[in-house]
Amino acid sequence: MPIYEYICMKCNNIFSALQRMGVSEKDTTCPECGSNDVKKKVSSFCCSPGSGPSSSSSSSRFGGGGG
Ligand SMILES: [Zn+2]
Repeated sequence: MPIYEYICMKCNNIFSALQRMGVSEKDTTCPECGSNDVKKKVSSFCCSPGSGPSSSSSSSRFGGGGG
C-alpha cells in the first residue's frame, strides 16, 4: 500500500496516511483535529540527474592603486 502525504487545511498539519489506489481525500481525516478538509500533497521527486545550482563565477576585481 502506498503512503500518501496529506495536509490539513484547518490546522495545516501534514500527515501521511496509507491509502489504497482510488481512495479520495474525503475518506481521509486529519489525526490532529479530525477535520476531513485535507488535501493530498504532490509527491515530488528528488535528486534530479545533472542538475545543480549553477555556480556563478563572480569576477570581482579589486581596484588597485592607493589613493
Ligand atoms: Zn487538522
